Amino acid sequence: MTVNEEYEILKTRVLRHNPNADIALLEKAYKLADEAHHDQKRKSGEPFIVHPVAVASMLADMDMDLATVIAGMLHDTVEDTDVTIEQVAAVFGQDIAYLVDGVTKLKHIPMTTKEELQAENLRKMFLSMASDIRVIVIKLVDRLHNMRTLQYVNTDSQITKARETLEIYTPLAHRLGMTKIKWELEDLCFKYLEPEAYASLEKQINQKREEQEAYISNVLSEIKAKLDEAGLKAKLDGRPKHLYSIHRKMITQNKTLEQIYDLLAIRVIVDTVQECYTVLGIIHELYKPIPGRFKDYIAMPKPNMYQSLHTTLIGPRGKPFEAQIRTWEMHRVAENGIAAHWKYKEDMDYKATDTDLKLEWVRNLLETQKDIDDASEFAETFKMDLFTDEVFVFTPKGEVKVFPTGSTPIDFAYSIHSAIGNRMTGAKVNGEIKPLNYKLKTGDFVEIITSAAPGRGPSRDWLNIVKSSEAKSKIKQWFKKERREENIERGKEAVERELKRLGVSNAQVMRDEWIQPHLQRHHFSSMDDMYNVIGFGDVSAQKFVGSLYSEYQKEQNDKDEGALKKAEAAAKREAEQAARSGDEYGAGSGGVIVKGLDNCLVRLSRCCNPVPGDSIVGYITRGRGVSVHRTDCPNIVSLSEGDNRMIDVRWAEKVKSSYVVQIGVKAVDSRTLLMDIVKTVADCNLSMTAINARKTRDNYELVDLKVEITERDELDRLVRRIRRIENVVDVGRSAN
Ligand code: MN
Repeated sequence: MTVNEEYEILKTRVLRHNPNADIALLEKAYKLADEAHHDQKRKSGEPFIVHPVAVASMLADMDMDLATVIAGMLHDTVEDTDVTIEQVAAVFGQDIAYLVDGVTKLKHIPMTTKEELQAENLRKMFLSMASDIRVIVIKLVDRLHNMRTLQYVNTDSQITKARETLEIYTPLAHRLGMTKIKWELEDLCFKYLEPEAYASLEKQINQKREEQEAYISNVLSEIKAKLDEAGLKAKLDGRPKHLYSIHRKMITQNKTLEQIYDLLAIRVIVDTVQECYTVLGIIHELYKPIPGRFKDYIAMPKPNMYQSLHTTLIGPRGKPFEAQIRTWEMHRVAENGIAAHWKYKEDMDYKATDTDLKLEWVRNLLETQKDIDDASEFAETFKMDLFTDEVFVFTPKGEVKVFPTGSTPIDFAYSIHSAIGNRMTGAKVNGEIKPLNYKLKTGDFVEIITSAAPGRGPSRDWLNIVKSSEAKSKIKQWFKKERREENIERGKEAVERELKRLGVSNAQVMRDEWIQPHLQRHHFSSMDDMYNVIGFGDVSAQKFVGSLYSEYQKEQNDKDEGALKKAEAAAKREAEQAARSGDEYGAGSGGVIVKGLDNCLVRLSRCCNPVPGDSIVGYITRGRGVSVHRTDCPNIVSLSEGDNRMIDVRWAEKVKSSYVVQIGVKAVDSRTLLMDIVKTVADCNLSMTAINARKTRDNYELVDLKVEITERDELDRLVRRIRRIENVVDVGRSAN
């Protein structure tokens, strides 16, 4: 057939699908391609134009739209001739130019690989680069035509091409449901990759062909007779199983050719779904169905939208065969997959939007496609979310690496090796120097520039730039290791600052018994290791020192309790001694000794809160022992005027319990007063148990606070400091 004859067929195919198609535009594409490829020849010796015409024609046969057919015609022009993409856009419009550009870009993906993981990455990259489903359809058809004419290239090229096809293209065709192309590609690959096995299987099948064809045609005519009786118009054929799948089954299931069940298969194609079930009934009446082998993919379509009825029957002479029953529309979907879906939309007068034609839609479709019929295929099923979250780029060796979207050349460098990352000084992307924060794009070729100069290393800023956790942790590791001295210094400073802030000394909290558990938890052998991580920022100084500080506080509290007990014991001893020596003071609780009374109940009054050092006086209450007041307490002054229940008391020696005192502050109205007071109390290392503020009529602020102290000195110091607060006019002990 001449090229012109082939072109005429192409035209009829286009018009069959779309009678209003712009044939003039197609003609232009044909002319342009013919001219552009004029001095090129295929390996077969034919003029090159044979190839684009064949590709366009196959696309038209799949009922693809005119844009796809024309893009098929032009698919090799931009890459292989002087034609530019701008030219294509000017003559044929953006849509067609976009498709041609997409196919051209895919050519730059080096497709050979030996590792399965790499193949998977390559397929993903392929899909994510072809931003329009039609680009992949063109690419698959292009590959199919090249595989059909593979006999003209040398054996090495045959094997390379066939392997590439089997690794990249047939899995893609499978996922896109393009079964017809997939099978033909697989058989062609099988033929070139395993010529002996292919020849042997072909021979075996041919030996049986006559017998089988006779058998099948017998079955078909029996069925046809029944369908005619029922007035059903149907297309029947014996379904040729493709060789590669028989071969795979024989190997994976370890079966002989005879044992491959559905080797004998027929297909019935009718117009309506209703008719499918009618045909099923007729066939089941005619032959005995094998239980458990019936599958209704019409009611329950496969996730790739494949629909058909499958049943296996015992045919004449007890030979089983499989029947597939489907409508014409289902047939188209079964053969052309995604391409058929897409056309289906167009048929329904659906105005295909840009997004529909973009991969998004395919991705959604594929997302639901989990073909559990075949476990190994299932494993290959794309995880679609990877597409938007990941970019695929090449190493200088052509290896594909996957990164989270937004990754940079730094991520790339660390994925090769820590040493590459640590010594990197720059990056080339597609041959051009790019900044380190350049965002990698799928299909980029990345090359890292390193320096062997000593003292080189990552910058701390990189931690904010990188996206992959691998790079992050490797950069951190470097800082931990390489900048150890610096980190240790930094860590020591941070700890010092924190100690200062807490108002404690190094010796008070940095105690070995408290530090050891921390080191053990981190598997550190020395405090330097700890300073290292603190300086590096993995552990905060606040947290570390804070934990030691709380140990310290706990110890202080214990000490206080111990001191209190000691003081009580001392007071008791003193009182006993006093009793023996005839001293008239008895011992009481609270570190106060009551004159003439032993072990009587003593309470420090809450109205004036006396503390050791205060001048005090006792008041004998009714039934509640002796309450101790400051001599200047306004309450006691009034009490003493009544009956004579006053009694002399004095502070016991070496009292070290804690006392609550109340302090009154008078100040000019100030917004920071409360804060200043609280801070002053904290600065004195005292703890506050209450604070109250109110305003006087003449607009002074009065603040009462209760503070726990152990000695009178502490109180005096606090009062002095509060007095220094700005706006404070008076400070003193206050009473309730
Ligand atoms: Mn081509």
